[in-house]
Amino acid sequence: MIRLIALVICLWSFGADANVPLSLDGHAVEGGLMFGKTDAQARVTLDKKSVLVSKEGHFLIGFGRDSAGIKNLEVALRNEIVRREINVVDRDFKIERINGLPGKKVTPDPKAIARIAKEKAQITDAKRASDSTPHYLSGFGWPVIGRLSGVYGSQRVLNGKPRRPHYGTDVAAPTGSPVRAIAAGRVAFVHSGMFFNGKTVLIDHGLGLRSVYIHLSDAKVTKDAYVAAGDVIGAVGATGRATGPHLHFGVTHNATPIDPEVLLGEMPR
Ligand SMILES: [Zn+2]
Repeated sequence: MIRLIALVICLWSFGADANVPLSLDGHAVEGGLMFGKTDAQARVTLDKKSVLVSKEGHFLIGFGRDSAGIKNLEVALRNEIVRREINVVDRDFKIERINGLPGKKVTPDPKAIARIAKEKAQITDAKRASDSTPHYLSGFGWPVIGRLSGVYGSQRVLNGKPRRPHYGTDVAAPTGSPVRAIAAGRVAFVHSGMFFNGKTVLIDHGLGLRSVYIHLSDAKVTKDAYVAAGDVIGAVGATGRATGPHLHFGVTHNATPIDPEVLLGEMPR
């Protein structure tokens, strides 16, 4: 479970400052996401890098797994600039060892490597167009309720071989359990069976925020459809590289993987 005390401390909000309106809330922790609102005409940068602002003045800031430290937010409007130091809190992530996976899926053969590369390019392509509407204002909810079987940021060692950190949350649930959209958005990508991910749905929640749902037994949406928060988009399965039926879902802001548990809060029971 997430360290709720740390998150409460990190939940902050600012009021108006001089003539530049700025509000920020969310979680300034590794894997956290902050929700900003300013004037529609404002220019926003984080550590000098431009941040997309919607035509209503909404913006998002995501913090990666190894992002602890001070970030400098600047919001410029006409001749004024408001500066905020955001202290991103460090977290510890666990190491998970998983054995007994079919060797083929741990060390893919050349044919599989070509297929994996093609599928990766398809996802990259689906992420190229970003929706500038902040659909995420719908609010967030858990896609499925079940036992948490994998957490964000853990480093997996598969059959003794270290892999990239686990960038998502795993919820074990029976095959066929409905999977719901964590927030409103547009379906950006549907795949019937990827090498690692199996049946996959990707939703664009606007301003670079996306969620992906993998290992599905069924996908109930088609590309470019709009979904509301909580709409059923698929069903839990064990397709692709999965040892049993569960939903792996991930959240990214642009290229930064966000911790779904930090975003969604504790799973309701
Ligand atoms: Zn997973």
